[in-house]
Amino acid sequence: MKLLSTLHKASQQSKIFRYKTYKKIGGVGHRKSIDRIFMGSMVGLLAIGAFFIIKPDSESIEPFDPLNCAPNCPLEPIENQEAQEVVHSDLGDDPVIEEERTEPSLADLENLVAQNIAQIKTHTLKSGESLSKLLARINLDKQNQSGTLKALDTIVNLKTIKSGTPVIVFLTVQDNSFLGLSIPLKENEFVGVLKTSDTEFIPISQEGSVETKQVHVKGKIIRTFSGSAQKVGIPQLIVNQILNALGDEIDLRNGFKKDDEFEVIYSQKVTSGGLELDIDKQCLFVGLKMGKDEVYRYLYTDKSGTPAFYNPMGQRDQKAIIKRPLKAIPRLSSPYGWRIHPVLMYRVFHSGVDLASPRGTPIMAGADGKIVHLGRKGAYGKYIKIQHAGGWSTAYGHMNDYKSGLKTGSHVKQGDIIGYVGATGRATGPHLHYEVWKNGKTVNPFNKNVISGKQLTGFELAQFQSYAESINPEFQKHLFGKYPPIPTTKPQKNPSKKNK
Ligand SMILES: [Zn+2]
Repeated sequence: MKLLSTLHKASQQSKIFRYKTYKKIGGVGHRKSIDRIFMGSMVGLLAIGAFFIIKPDSESIEPFDPLNCAPNCPLEPIENQEAQEVVHSDLGDDPVIEEERTEPSLADLENLVAQNIAQIKTHTLKSGESLSKLLARINLDKQNQSGTLKALDTIVNLKTIKSGTPVIVFLTVQDNSFLGLSIPLKENEFVGVLKTSDTEFIPISQEGSVETKQVHVKGKIIRTFSGSAQKVGIPQLIVNQILNALGDEIDLRNGFKKDDEFEVIYSQKVTSGGLELDIDKQCLFVGLKMGKDEVYRYLYTDKSGTPAFYNPMGQRDQKAIIKRPLKAIPRLSSPYGWRIHPVLMYRVFHSGVDLASPRGTPIMAGADGKIVHLGRKGAYGKYIKIQHAGGWSTAYGHMNDYKSGLKTGSHVKQGDIIGYVGATGRATGPHLHYEVWKNGKTVNPFNKNVISGKQLTGFELAQFQSYAESINPEFQKHLFGKYPPIPTTKPQKNPSKKNK
């Protein structure tokens, strides 16, 4: 593998590396092998030189060669005064050590990413998970696992790595070969491992941190929102967050016309080396211009700890009733509206939708609410009706059984299992008869059924609005439709209450 060997050569050129090797091996008796490594690296240097002589105008990606890439080198040598002094005090004026090289560092790996030779996959240490378990979970092979763990073990107590810590794994773009990993261990320190050959793993500790930055992207609709958002570089994960959060409230599929505009702010974790990590990405703001309509939503976590998107007025309007409340992908066997009834054989109004699914498929509550009916109800068979906020209700018929423990008066959350698909009552086969009610009348469950959400008030509203302004300096414009006029005199606040 050319890349590994170039990395290998790079590290072999380092006198500090040789010092470390020396120290690790730990005896004068091993000096020969170190000299041999040095000789080997000289051969490597010659080989690199030969490569450039033979292919001087090669347009292919230049091999990673920190030795030959000055002066416009992306790999700025890292000064490491302390380490160099150690070298001198320990090895004195040893004639072998003359090469002016720097220590191999995680920057080498980061540069490979910048050069599109390496890619990163970021994983997060789960609660109760050891690093060794994580490496097994991500299918790193045994040799790389043990090499990595052994190397890291020399510089850090692996047990002290906390859950939630990102583990950044470097792989070749070409064939996903393992190159090393780095871990932001604590404030301003990274530990890592650089793999330089099949059997050589160099432990590395260096300064650095992971920061959260905000990415602000604007774009125009070409055809679809998803496609246009991805075109301007908004990650799929962020697009999905927007679709999930607003898809029921706003017609993101058909509501746009060409040249409508969108704007997204999302958070992105970045290492001090400039690597964008693929974890904890979060959409913070969405702005949509759909024809004449403007929609602005800010992600805010309310005092109960629930994150949700609010408009600038502090209103949340997005709890939609689930359209297919089954833990399976059901087939719509009969839609809402007039039809010839399959059992009665005359024209009747079908007040819900029939979702065919195998007997026993779990049925979920369509939204948060209170069960107002649980029991048999004529042709509906075993039946549940749930009352929701804002004059909405949902009803579920032909159930095989109810979820045990539920009764009339029970409170349920959206997505809670309330029972199981069956064919009780007047039914030709197992299916869920699902109804959505608004103010006492049934409506088509596949219409937009949005339960009016909540309004932030008082201190929480003020807190939300100042937070939103910190996310997006244009917040005031979103709130008032334009920037508010700058007041010419100081506003008087409650003059009567002022003196107490
Ligand atoms: Zn039905």
